[in-house]
Amino acid sequence: MSPVHPDLPSSPDTPPVLLLGHHLKQLRLPTVLREYEKVARECARDGVDHPRYLLRLIELELLDRERRVTERRIREARFPAVKSLDTFDFTAIPSLNKMLVLDLARSEFITRRENIIALGNSGTGKTHVALGLGLAACQKGCSTLFITAHSLSSQLMEARDEKRLMKLQAQLQNVKLLIIDELGYVPLSQVGAELLFEVFSQRYERGSTMVTSNLPFEEWPSVFQSERLTGALLDRLTHHVHILELNGDSYRLKHSASRKRATVEADQNKASADS
Ligand code: ADP
Ligand code: MG
Repeated sequence: MSPVHPDLPSSPDTPPVLLLGHHLKQLRLPTVLREYEKVARECARDGVDHPRYLLRLIELELLDRERRVTERRIREARFPAVKSLDTFDFTAIPSLNKMLVLDLARSEFITRRENIIALGNSGTGKTHVALGLGLAACQKGCSTLFITAHSLSSQLMEARDEKRLMKLQAQLQNVKLLIIDELGYVPLSQVGAELLFEVFSQRYERGSTMVTSNLPFEEWPSVFQSERLTGALLDRLTHHVHILELNGDSYRLKHSASRKRATVEADQNKASADS
C-alpha cells in the first residue's frame, strides 16, 4: 500500500493506533477516534460482539455530527441571542395564541412555505418568540437567518452599490426561514423599501418569512413610504400567513416595575422589623 500521507509512511512497523488515528481524522470521524477505546472496553466487559461495537461507535458519531451541524446552523442564523420558547412565559401575554406558537415551533409551516407576522407594541416578546421559532427551525434542520428590517435594507443598498446585489438576493432566497425583526421602528428610504419589497417578492411561495412589527398593517405605508408598494407586499406576505398578536404591557417594564416593588417591599419589611 502506498503511504496515505507524506508525513505518515505506513510500514509494517507503524503502530496501528497511529494509523487508525490518522485515517479516522482523514475520514472526519472525530467521535469514533475519541470514543473507540472507551467503547471497546465497555463492549469487552459486557460481552458485546463486533458488529454491535461498531454500531455503537457509528451511532455516537452520527449523533455528534447532527449536533455539530445544528450548532453551525444556529451560528449561521446570526441570532442576536439564543432564546428558546421554554423560557417564554405565555401567561404574561394572554392575547398570544400559545397553541399556535407551539404548533409553529414544530416547523411544519416552513415545509408548507407559510409566513408569520407578529404584531404588538414594544417589549411584548415579539423578538423572543421570533428567536424561539428560529431556534426550533434550526433544530429541525431548516436554514434560518435573523436580521432587523433596518439592517437588511442597509445591507441590500450596500450590496447594490458594490455590485453584489444578485448574490445577496440569491442567499436570501435560499434560506428556508428568513426572520425580519423590527419592521416599523425606522422608516425606510425609498430605495431601501423597494429592495426589501424585492426580497419578499422573490421569497413568495419559495420560502417562509417571519416579520415582527410594532405597527398595525394600516401604518405600514408610512414605513415603506408608498401605499402601492405596501399593498403589493402585504398581498404576498399575507397569502399564506399566521398572525401572532402580542397586545399587552411591556414585559420589560412590568418586570422592572415588579422588581422595584419587591425591593421596596423588602426594604419596608426590613425597616419595620428593625424598629
Ligand atoms: P419586543 O421584541 O416585542 O420589543 P422582546 O422580545 O425584546 O420584546 O422582549 C423584551 C424582553 O422581555 C426580552 O428580554 C424578552 O426575553 C423578555 N420577555 C418578553 N416577554 C416575555 C415573556 N412572555 N416571557 C419571558 N420573557 C419575556
Ligand atoms: Mg423586538
